[in-house]
Parts: sequence; C-alpha cells; structure tokens
Amino acid sequence: MTGKAFFIDTTVCTGCRGCQIACKQWNQLPGTKTKNRGTYQNPEDLSFYTYKLVRFKEYLGPDGKPVWYFFQDQCRHCLEPPCKETADESVPGGIIIDGETGAVLYTDKLKKANAKDIIEACPFNIPRVQKGTGFMAKCTMCVERVHNGLLPACVKTCPTGAMNFGDRDKMISLAKKRLSEAKKDFPSATLTNIEDVRVFYLLKDEPSKYYQFASIERSPELMDRKMAMKHIAGSIKKLALNLNPININNA
Ligand code: SF4
Ligand code: SF4
Ligand code: SF4
Repeated sequence: MTGKAFFIDTTVCTGCRGCQIACKQWNQLPGTKTKNRGTYQNPEDLSFYTYKLVRFKEYLGPDGKPVWYFFQDQCRHCLEPPCKETADESVPGGIIIDGETGAVLYTDKLKKANAKDIIEACPFNIPRVQKGTGFMAKCTMCVERVHNGLLPACVKTCPTGAMNFGDRDKMISLAKKRLSEAKKDFPSATLTNIEDVRVFYLLKDEPSKYYQFASIERSPELMDRKMAMKHIAGSIKKLALNLNPININNA
C-alpha cells in the first residue's frame, strides 16, 4: 500500500499545540468558546471546527513528580475506512479516497447521509457534524498542500520533529526505528495500528493511558481487519468509555 502517511512521535512532543493552531489557521476554522476545566487541553474535544486536538493527560510518576502524556488526535486516514463503507451504503461518493495520497476526504454530499451511522462506524471517534446543516468534517491531510509539494500545516509547524509526513513505506521504517530506540527508555513503548492506517503514533506507554480511542486493540479470533474495523468499532467505543485511568486532572 503506497501513498502518504503521518508518523507522530509522541515521545518528543512538548505539548506546545502549535500543530493544533496551524490546523486552525490553514483551514480558516474559527475558535470555539471554552472554559477552564483544570487542564491545558483546550478545547475539550474535536468538533466541526477543530480537526486536530492535542489531548493532555497528567499522571504522578514513581518519584511523585507529574508526568505528561500528549496525544495529537486527528483522523487516521484508514486504509479501508469504515466511515466510507458506511457512507457508501446511503450516499455513494460521499466520502472519497484521494488516489495520490490515500487521504480519506469528506464531501458535501454527506449532508444527505445519516451522520450518526458514520460517526458510530469510526473506531477512533473522529467525524463531527455541523449542527443545523448536517455537513460533516475532519482532517483532510491538507491534500491541497501535499498536491503542491508542501507538508501538511501541522507537520510544517511542529518544532520538535514529533510530526512527520511522507511516503508511507518511509514513515513505517522511521516509526520502527524510533520504536526500537524508544524501547531503551520506555520498555512499554508501542506503535498504534500501523498496518491499518495512515496516521500512526509512537507511544511510550499503554495507549489507553493517553486517550480511550488512541488505538484499536484486536482479539486474535477476529476474522479480518476490515470486519474488525467496521463491526467492533461500536463495542470498542463502549468498552473504552468504561476505562478509568488514574488521571490527576480528573481526580
Ligand atoms: S479515522 Fe475514522 S473518520 Fe478517519 S478514515 Fe478512519 S474511520 Fe474514517
Ligand atoms: S493534515 Fe491538515 S487538516 Fe489534518 S490535522 Fe494536519 S493541518 Fe489539520
Ligand atoms: S507542534 Fe509538535 S511538539 Fe507541539 S504539540 Fe504539536 S506535535 Fe507536539
């Protein structure tokens, strides 16, 4: 499978949120009114106007000092996107895949689709709908920039090298190299869903400690990836919602 991919190395992220702001700027998305919830994560969640969100988790380390986990949430641009499969049942062509990059793109045709079905089909809790219109939105992979030889805005702005973008095979190689290096400092380090998506993460700890939808865990008895992605999305979401990490932000 060729095309493009993001490799997001969370181990070198500082939580500056530059990527989140760059996404807003490039896509000319308005800010949303928020309130202080006792966390640096702001806004609280993705929305029709927020395609990228740096999620913050704060834990107490063994020495009693705080440890930050940052997760740069965005559409994973699945290789076989369950959202598209669901949309095609009612609005064929409502979600398309860009032939050059593999980006999964939402079109205005989705206004006629059942947004609830599409939202439930996504195992990563990504699609958002605009109240009152029915239009849906999410990360576009900045395809118009990529088609013109530019990096996605969020990647271009990242000052630490956490955001990487390029040919998918090169991103996979880079991710595996960084995993082996990271294992020396973080034995629980892992890569998320690298076989299934175009946005994969290097995490230094269990995915659920970052965010409940950070990664899909599969049971070995599952028939195949496509079935897993489509049919267990709902149950995984329900399961994830029951997870209760020890988060001093939420304590
Ligand atoms: S992450 Fe969700 S919205 Fe993005 S392509 Fe996959 S199923 Fe669709
Ligand atoms: S690729 Fe573009 S649209 Fe997607 S999160 Fe990055 S800046 Fe936003
Ligand atoms: S711009 Fe880079 S360092 Fe800053 S929050 Fe985003 S991924 Fe992390």
